[in-house]
Amino acid sequence: MTTTSLNNTLFERAQRTTPGGVNSPVRAFRSVGGTPRFIKRAQGASFWDVEDKEYIDYIGSWGPAIVGHAHPDVVKAVQDAAVNGLSFGAPTEGEILMAEEICKLVPSIEQVRLVSSGTEATMSALRLARGYTKRDKIIKFEGCYHGHADSLLVKAGSGLLTFGNPTSAGVPEDFVKHTLVLDYNNTQQLEDTFAAVGDEIACVIVEPVAGNMNLVKASQEFLDTMRRLCTKHGTVLIFDEVMSGFRVALGGAQSLNGIIPDLTALGKVIGGGLPVAAFGGKKEIMAHLAPLGGVYQAGTLSGNPIAVAAGLTTLKIIQTPGFHARLAATATRLTTGLTQAAKAAEVAFTADAIGGMFGLYFAKDIPSSYTEVMRGNKERFNTFFHHLLNAGVYLAPSAFEAGFVSAAHTDAIIDRTIALAQDAFAQLD
Ligand SMILES: *Cc1c(COP(=O)(O)O)cnc(C)c1O
Repeated sequence: MTTTSLNNTLFERAQRTTPGGVNSPVRAFRSVGGTPRFIKRAQGASFWDVEDKEYIDYIGSWGPAIVGHAHPDVVKAVQDAAVNGLSFGAPTEGEILMAEEICKLVPSIEQVRLVSSGTEATMSALRLARGYTKRDKIIKFEGCYHGHADSLLVKAGSGLLTFGNPTSAGVPEDFVKHTLVLDYNNTQQLEDTFAAVGDEIACVIVEPVAGNMNLVKASQEFLDTMRRLCTKHGTVLIFDEVMSGFRVALGGAQSLNGIIPDLTALGKVIGGGLPVAAFGGKKEIMAHLAPLGGVYQAGTLSGNPIAVAAGLTTLKIIQTPGFHARLAATATRLTTGLTQAAKAAEVAFTADAIGGMFGLYFAKDIPSSYTEVMRGNKERFNTFFHHLLNAGVYLAPSAFEAGFVSAAHTDAIIDRTIALAQDAFAQLD
């Protein structure tokens, strides 16, 4: 693997003072091997590493960069806000505007609270659901990632009614014994679980489009059943749209599936690259939050004025007519082109897309569950990844992550990517 010396030098240096040299694990390239690139700047659909090598970026900061990197309007909003002070610890009008915008775009959200990360959003939504229902048990699905709060870091693969084991060291068994892990897209298993313990379940939390086990779409039947069972049993349905929100459609996955969740977690796009996330939903449930109710939740930097300025400006840009249709056409152009290139090279490969999100699978069929995702050929992905990286295309450094396009990804950029991928496919054995 050819890596430039400056990236190597920085990686070695970083590892002296930071565990693994990175501040979030997947950046370390452990899954694909090799040396992570240290990024110096980004513009539009590209970023440049410390060696001034340009990469077409298909992770967009794992979702936030939906309007392209360093969009002039977003940068200006941040600069203008910064001049007026960085943080006050007191309310601002910007927070109201942000809340109004979110409630307008996602109608299931009647009230919303701003936080600083997706982890905080899902963790708080979970606490709220438990406080509201006065129940402890929760249901999550294998392969869905909801941030790194204790109750949600549960090993996938548990069968029906098997209580989870923690995925992470440091999470007490006592915490996760309340977490039931079921199979994604397994409607019957969901029915059976509710029949057995439905009245004890505080909430079901789901990524309505899963983006943390590569891209896996939920079936309409699966989500409809989930909605029906939650209503029947007084269980709070939480859609974790931290990734899918404002990305698969302006109104999120829920607008595509026509489902009204009780609570929704948002993040990534709503900060436009700065730390903003949110959770919200039914007013009746949100009223249980402090200072109105008994469920405590707080944050020194929640609704930070600079972050809100970036988020609000991003939300304005994505409301430009045709924005999401163009984004979807871009993602489809990429997945169609890659699929054709793989076919020409006789490589077992398929791809899927929804809005500005896509999945690449070194497998014959599009997966619908974690087990199916795991059947993909990881070695082939890794070879493909490194070939493209050397050629100046930056895919997510793992076979099990989704990819993202932005409004700055022009047809010419997509076509260049496909041409480079042709070479990469040809080199796979
Ligand atoms: C990224 C992500 C999170 C966690 O958000 P952070 O801001 O990284 O804490 C939670 N849920 C989903 C679906 C995500 O994609």
